[in-house]
Order: sequence, then structure tokens, then C-alpha cells
Amino acid sequence: MTTARIVKCPSCNKAVKWTAKNASRPFCSERCKLIDLGSWAAEEHRIADTAPPDFTSEDPDTVI
Ligand SMILES: [Zn+2]
Repeated sequence: MTTARIVKCPSCNKAVKWTAKNASRPFCSERCKLIDLGSWAAEEHRIADTAPPDFTSEDPDTVI
């Protein structure tokens, strides 16, 4: 099968062909890949800094 799967770039939402040739998949480009990894790392760091250490699925608001 030669039909390329189309995915959305997680960084800019552009349609991207998922092919073996696209080394940056699922991103449209190496640039978007780096942008996304950078923001993810920043976000992760920020959450780790502010989230309460005991935040789990036992939160009564999420159970019910
Ligand atoms: Zn992109």
C-alpha cells in the first residue's frame, strides 16, 4: 500500500503525510518537532513545580 496516512502536526495542526521519509513525523518539520518538545518540557517543568505532590485519581471530584 502506498497510501500515506495523514496526521496533524501536534505543533501547528498542519496536515502531514505519515511516511517513512518524514523523519519528523508526526510533525510537519524538524522545527515543529523541536518547538513541541521544547514547550512540552517547559510545561512539564512548570506543572512539576506547581502541582500538589499528592494529586492522584483519588481526588473526589474525579471519582463519583
Ligand atoms: Zn508543524
